[in-house]
Amino acid sequence: MDHFDLCIVGAGVIGIAIAEAIARTKPPSYSIVLLEQNSSFGQETSSRNSEVIHAGLYYQQGSLKARLCREGSAMLYDYCRKYEIAHRRVGKFIVAQENELEALQALAERARDNDVLELHWRDRKALQDKEPLVEASAALFSPNTGIVDSHALMQSLLSQAQTAGVEFVCRTRVERVLCGAKSFEVHTVSGEHGQKEAYRFHCSALINAAGLNAQSLASRIDGLDSAHIPTQLLTKGNYFKLNGRAPFQHLIYPMPAAQTSGLGIHACLDLGGGVRFGPDIEAIDAVNYKVDVQRKAQFVEAIRRYYPSLNPAQLEPDYAGVRPKLHSPKGQPMDFVLQTADVHAVPGLVQLFGIESPGLTASLAIGKTIAQHLA
Ligand SMILES: Cc1cc2nc3c(=O)[nH]c(=O)nc-3n(C[C@H](O)[C@H](O)[C@H](O)COP(=O)(O)OP(=O)(O)OC[C@H]3O[C@@H](n4cnc5c(N)ncnc54)[C@H](O)[C@@H]3O)c2cc1C
Repeated sequence: MDHFDLCIVGAGVIGIAIAEAIARTKPPSYSIVLLEQNSSFGQETSSRNSEVIHAGLYYQQGSLKARLCREGSAMLYDYCRKYEIAHRRVGKFIVAQENELEALQALAERARDNDVLELHWRDRKALQDKEPLVEASAALFSPNTGIVDSHALMQSLLSQAQTAGVEFVCRTRVERVLCGAKSFEVHTVSGEHGQKEAYRFHCSALINAAGLNAQSLASRIDGLDSAHIPTQLLTKGNYFKLNGRAPFQHLIYPMPAAQTSGLGIHACLDLGGGVRFGPDIEAIDAVNYKVDVQRKAQFVEAIRRYYPSLNPAQLEPDYAGVRPKLHSPKGQPMDFVLQTADVHAVPGLVQLFGIESPGLTASLAIGKTIAQHLA
C-alpha cells in the first residue's frame, strides 16, 4: 500500500494554506497528499464568501478568531503584494443610527482590546463627505479592511505547494479512516458517476480540513471518540447583487444585529467595481446554495436603513454560502477549533471545526499554526 507522511483532506483555502505552509517548512522527502472530492479546489465555502480581508474588530478578546484574523490579515496583504494577487485595501465604514451609537462605542472598545488600533470615529458629516449616499449618525472607519480575489489566492498557494512537492488529487473523496498504532489507513473513492474506483493508502499524519464536511468525516474516523466532534449548526448566507456601478467607494457595514452571529447585510465591493449585498442569516438543515428571490423584501428593508435611495429594481439574487458554524449551547459566540492529540488523544490527527468568517482572512495564519504544530 502507498504511504504518505501527511494527508490533508479538503482543498478549500484552509487545506491549501496548510499544505503550502507545511511543504515550505518540511524537507523535500516529506510526502504530502492533498485530497479534494470536487473536480477542482475551492468550490465550496472558499468561493462563496464576501472576499473581505477583515481587520479583526469584532471577535472575543483572546480568541483564536481575534488572534488569527489580525495575524492572517497582515500575512495576506504581504502575500498578495509579493505574488501579485488582485486585492484592494478599500477600507470600511461601520455605520450606526442614532439608537446604535452606544453599541458603536462598545465595538470601538472591543477593537482596541483586540489591538486593532487603526480605527477612526467619523461623525455624520465626515461620513457623508466620503459616502454621500450613506445615511447614518456616525461611523467607525477601518482603513485596513480590504478585498481579495480568493480564487487567485488559492490558485497561487496551490501552485506554491505543488512546486514544493505537494501531490494534489481531486475527484477523490475520503470515505473512511482507520487509526492504527503508528499510521492511518485512508479509504477513498475516486472518479465520477459510473466510473468510481476505491483506493486505500497509509499516512503518518492526517489533517481534517473538510469544512462543512469536517464533522461528517470525523464521524468516519474509526478510533476517534465521537465526544470530540462538536455539533454543527448550518447557517446559510444569501447575497443579492446591485446591477450597475457601485454607489460607494468603501465597504459599508451596518451595526451587527444583537442576538445574531452575522455582521449584518453589508455592501461588499468587488474588484470589478460592482457591489453585492449580504450575507443574511438563514437556518438550514442541509447544504443548498439556491437564493430564494422571496428574500428580496428583507434585503431592501435592511439596506435602506443606511442607503435610503436604493432602487429595488436594481437588486437581484446572486449566490449563497453556508457558514460551517458550531452549535453554541448557551448562545455564546463560538471560536475556531483547531483540535490536536492533546484533546482527542489520536497522535498525528489534526481537525479543524467551525472555520467560518474570518477564515479566509486567517487562512495563512492557520496554515502557519498547523505547520508549527507538526514541526
Ligand atoms: C457567507 C459567507 C461569507 C464569508 N465571508 C468571509 C469574508 O468576507 N472574509 C473572511 O475572512 N471569511 C469569510 N467567510 C469564511 C470563509 O469563507 C471560510 O472560513 C473559508 O472559506 C473556509 O475554508 P475551508 O477550506 O475550511 O472550507 P471549504 O472551502 O468548504 O473547503 C473544504 C473542502 O473540503 C472538501 N471535502 C469535504 N469533505 C471531503 C472528503 N470527505 N474528501 C475530500 N474532500 C472533501 C470540500 O469539497 C471542500 O472543497 C465567509 C463564509 C461564508 C459562508
